[in-house]
Amino acid sequence: MATVAVIGAGFVGLSSAYWLMRDGHAVTLFDPAGPAGGASYGNAGTFANYACIPVNNPSVFRDFHRYLLAAESPFRLRASYLPRLMPWLARFLWHSTPARYEAAVAALGPLLGRAYEGYADLIRDAGLEDRIRRRECLYLYSSERSFRNSADSLRLRREAGVACEVLDAAAIRGLEPALAPIFAHGVLFPGSWHLSDPAGFLTALHGWLAGRGLRTEARAVTRLAPGGSGVILVTPDGDERFDHAVVAAGIHSRPLAADCGDRLPLDTERGYHVTFGGVIDPIGRPCGWAERGLYMTPMAQGLRVAGTVELAGLDPRKASGLTGLLARSARDALPALKEPGVRQTDDWLGFRPTFPDGLPVLGRSRASERVVYAFGHQHVGLTLGGLSGMVVADLLAGRKPPLDLTAVDPRRF
Ligand SMILES: Cc1cc2nc3c(=O)[nH]c(=O)nc-3n(C[C@H](O)[C@H](O)[C@H](O)COP(=O)(O)OP(=O)(O)OC[C@H]3O[C@@H](n4cnc5c(N)ncnc54)[C@H](O)[C@@H]3O)c2cc1C
Repeated sequence: MATVAVIGAGFVGLSSAYWLMRDGHAVTLFDPAGPAGGASYGNAGTFANYACIPVNNPSVFRDFHRYLLAAESPFRLRASYLPRLMPWLARFLWHSTPARYEAAVAALGPLLGRAYEGYADLIRDAGLEDRIRRRECLYLYSSERSFRNSADSLRLRREAGVACEVLDAAAIRGLEPALAPIFAHGVLFPGSWHLSDPAGFLTALHGWLAGRGLRTEARAVTRLAPGGSGVILVTPDGDERFDHAVVAAGIHSRPLAADCGDRLPLDTERGYHVTFGGVIDPIGRPCGWAERGLYMTPMAQGLRVAGTVELAGLDPRKASGLTGLLARSARDALPALKEPGVRQTDDWLGFRPTFPDGLPVLGRSRASERVVYAFGHQHVGLTLGGLSGMVVADLLAGRKPPLDLTAVDPRRF
């Protein structure tokens, strides 16, 4: 048994804690914000095991100007952030060429295909089944052009083994009669599901782990000092030594990796959600709207509308244009939201941790085998959190992980 510090209490960190405790390790979780204080709080809640199409794909060259200029574009680039973003953006574009994009799909597909293995035992052991809604996700297209353009990604999904059912307008109406008749095409992804409350799921998991000996420290780790026989965690309240450390701090992982000799090109794709509180189950499943870059997900608190991509670093100021777009789009898609008394009750900004090649980092640090990285899960951190935690425990135990980790090796940069 070893002492292990897990830094970050999102989907990746808490799943890592679960798998490490199964191996009998004494785990301490560090997070000043507590469970689900980061991107894991406000996401769309989808277990999107079909989402093997990364944002870095060849369509960015075709559609970039349209995304920048269109009034209802779900994409924003803050000009003042451009100078700092340039190195990341250049690499992102480099990874959007057809061959590199297909390599990313080929790497993401197997991870997503095995994602549920990382959750099955966790959900059963922690008694979390009632927090899961096993209704498959539906992706919708309001324009012929974008549906036609999606043909290639549909082909790649199928080649990756993703089950996809293409629906016409009548089938969409049959499944989700509350939707406005503006969607001519849809794709249903059998085998996907969603959470009724992602933060509630993680809080319950954390409570269950705490009952089994997980120690939690509401402190930020300001620096890591890895050595041959252990790792020192530096915090504002003093230093602490562990046999191993796991860096799962989402977008804030970059400086901790730099302490361990790895300069990693991690930046953020910011995303937003708005909630129509108290609007319970107007739809029966998460419905994505391709052109608006969003999901509408029925959650315990109401309807959550989540998505968009903004490149603007960690500045806490929100883009009202994007939260407005989410609310407006939801009303366009679901006319019931226009009824008197229905109100938007919150808005939220989250920071997706994204590498320019669209793949996460799962592996050991350069400076020490005792530090394991698990971050950079971009749009699929909820989906891949369980599997990433399983891989972390395998790496720490010296076991062979269940899949080839070459494509997600931190040294690829
Ligand atoms: C709008 C939106 C919608 C999304 N929808 C989906 C979806 O439907 N499905 C899906 O799979 N993914 C989705 N995602 C992506 C997903 O939310 C993220 O990939 C995932 O939450 C990342 O989890 P994480 O554990 O790596 O990081 P986080 O959840 O960000 O957790 C990192 C934690 O580390 C802590 N921390 C930071 N610095 C330190 C430090 N120095 N010391 C200690 N602790 C620290 C933070 O407080 C935080 O709690 C969405 C994201 C957004 C923004």
